[in-house]
Amino acid sequence: MSEQSSDTENRNFIRDIVADDLSSGHCKEIATRFPPEPNGYLHIGHAKSICLNFGIAQDFGGRCHLRFDDTNPTREEQEYIDAIKTDIRWLGLDWGKHLYYASDYFEQLYDWAVHLIQTGNAYVDDLTADEIRDYRGTLTDPGRNSPYRDRPIEENLHLFARMRSGDFPEGRCVLRAKIDMASGNINLRDPIIYRIIHTKHPRTASKWCIYPTYDFAHGQSDAIEHISHSICTLEFEDHRPLYDWFIENLPVPSRPHQHEFARLNLSYTVLSKRILTQLVRENRVSGWDDPRMPTLAGLRRRGFPPEAIRDFASRIGVAKRDAVVDVAMLEHCVRDILNQNADRRMAVLRPLKVIIENYPDSQVEELEAANNPGNESSGTRTIPFSRELYIEQDDFMEAPPKKFFRLAPDREVRLRYGYLITCTNVIKDVNGEVTELRCTYDPATRGGKTPDGRKVKGTLHWVSASHAVDAEVRLYEYLFAVSEPGVDGNLIQDINPTSLEVLNNCKLEPCLVNLSKGQTVQFERMGYFCSDTDSTPERLVLNRTIGLRDSWSKTLGGKTG
Ligand code: ATP
Ligand code: MG
Repeated sequence: MSEQSSDTENRNFIRDIVADDLSSGHCKEIATRFPPEPNGYLHIGHAKSICLNFGIAQDFGGRCHLRFDDTNPTREEQEYIDAIKTDIRWLGLDWGKHLYYASDYFEQLYDWAVHLIQTGNAYVDDLTADEIRDYRGTLTDPGRNSPYRDRPIEENLHLFARMRSGDFPEGRCVLRAKIDMASGNINLRDPIIYRIIHTKHPRTASKWCIYPTYDFAHGQSDAIEHISHSICTLEFEDHRPLYDWFIENLPVPSRPHQHEFARLNLSYTVLSKRILTQLVRENRVSGWDDPRMPTLAGLRRRGFPPEAIRDFASRIGVAKRDAVVDVAMLEHCVRDILNQNADRRMAVLRPLKVIIENYPDSQVEELEAANNPGNESSGTRTIPFSRELYIEQDDFMEAPPKKFFRLAPDREVRLRYGYLITCTNVIKDVNGEVTELRCTYDPATRGGKTPDGRKVKGTLHWVSASHAVDAEVRLYEYLFAVSEPGVDGNLIQDINPTSLEVLNNCKLEPCLVNLSKGQTVQFERMGYFCSDTDSTPERLVLNRTIGLRDSWSKTLGGKTG
């Protein structure tokens, strides 16, 4: 972990509770867990919860479990289980031997459901789903008792056993806890604890055709694992009385306590598994790992370093109230890490040919360039310079406005690590588009120095034409065009139509031919780029991880990257 995430910097109200519980002796050993439902890929919001749970365990000498809440086989898949494990490991966190599945507890949960029946605390209900909803009442009206609520215990036991043995079709009946249909908390109005689902489960296959609800499985799983602090997001605050009711009415081996914190919301970003699933299913992105997705798989493919995500998680802190975090803050954390670690390279994304007419035709010079001027230990490399180069189309203007300091007719600029060149002629095609520049160079300016001290304002990046490596570069913008996607009720309309731009004719300096997949470099003046999983030995494909401009530092009044 970075130095920022030391104990003191990381203080938050949940850590304070944990520290108090330890010092008061209320709790001897800290155990937390991260309990994903394997029905989608993890996103940056989950990373907040992962860093919180694993971080607390780490810092208080406890343990953190990874437990899959796999109680609904209609939505869950092995692919998601595998992806979740990969993503947590990639974040740099480790559950060690503490890998669990709610499905490991199905037999125990079943026994406890039987216990509730035996103690008069649960009943089999034959009402349909619609009737149950209708009987439940509303926030202002109390619910009504089901006509099946007072079935004799023996009959309930018999029916529940028949549910288990597959005697009934889906929806025919459910098992409900018998609590209080008039409760002000709707979660306590006889919640369903078991339902019939005739679907194969990724782990228990066809062994079960009844499955516990999330609400029934969740707290009891924590109790089985002796979780000391069940940390979850605020939407479960109203469920806590129900979880406590189960714990009080069952012979569980421990009493976990739930603490709620505000989920992460991020501007320009959607963090709902349901909607992310929809984006994937409707092919609005190329998959869960599309580099525009806020999934950990997407961010990884995009080139975000895991340290940056951990750093972000520690900087945003943990609060009791919902708020929206500016996505620029996440990007700031990414730049912060990449600025230190990424080697500098030169690449021309939209090439314009430059011919240096007074440079000897067959000559090639190897110029020395620093890999990272901010970090001497990263060393240097050489870059070939020759008569034909590429520069960025944007770096030339035939009729430049006042503040344009780059190349223009009869103007001199510096080529980074190279020479000073002056544009002497502009070649155009039949449509009047500039296709090539003719220039001269000053041999006395090798390395960009001006022996006579003359001032040159612009410095351009460039690549030698015959040595350049061809590449496809994918430029990304936010997937959504508005800061609060879906706030007007139509999320799909808020999708940014230009979130992906593909450049097919990019020219990279030659050493990039060896760029390994996932490795990130800075292209001078252009941003950070990494090799995409689509790269092949024949063709490099690069993602723009992020541009150089740091709007977050600016809002802080700080320096820019
Ligand atoms: P859903 O339940 O709608 O499918 P979910 O994102 O809550 O989606 P889970 O697999 O239940 O999915 O989440 C696992 C854990 O991650 C939960 O403890 C949840 O509270 C936490 N979590 C989910 N989204 C966020 C978020 N945006 N910020 C912080 N924690 C989150
Ligand atoms: Mg959830």
